[in-house]
Amino acid sequence: TPVIGVLALQGDVREHLIALASADAVARPVRRPEELAEVDGLVIPGGESTTMSKLAVLFGMLEPLRERVAAGMPVYGTCAGMILLADKILDPRSGQETVGGIDMIVRRNAFGRQNESFEAAVEFAGVLGGPVDGVFIRAPWVESVGARAEVVAVHGGHIVAVRQGNALATSFHPELTGDHRVHALFTEMVRSVG
Ligand code: GLN
Repeated sequence: TPVIGVLALQGDVREHLIALASADAVARPVRRPEELAEVDGLVIPGGESTTMSKLAVLFGMLEPLRERVAAGMPVYGTCAGMILLADKILDPRSGQETVGGIDMIVRRNAFGRQNESFEAAVEFAGVLGGPVDGVFIRAPWVESVGARAEVVAVHGGHIVAVRQGNALATSFHPELTGDHRVHALFTEMVRSVG
């Protein structure tokens, strides 16, 4: 059984731990480099990406995260986690760093004020059994992807899920629904590496 960590510096950690456990993974919170070294894969949750990146620096996690992701550890980021996996942020706040790993440019809070939170059915390549319920909360979208990145979901003409090798990112939050198919997909990605 794959052991999957959830980066537990800030954000909706608990919901991911529950979703991973229902997707047949052993799930545990990760705050320190020693804990990161012990997991087979990692989820970076939703939350606030600038805060999360600053905490990653404070906890000495930014470089270890960059190293493991670059070495091919499977990683899945939702919303703020997607922003952390982007090689480039269109509108970074000062001091905002990313882990990187996906050749994409992300626009923060892209879905805008009047639509800060909404749900929509999203067709997701690689997830069988019909569209997933996309919960978008002050969500980013992906402005553009490079040649190595594969677009796996689009909503309203905007890229909302991307996969590049062992890295997966969604603008939306499958951990906030009862539907754990995206977590099951990620668990399979981890299993196939381990
Ligand atoms: N807007 C947030 C950010 O920039 C992300 C919101 C979320 O994770 N739900 O980090």
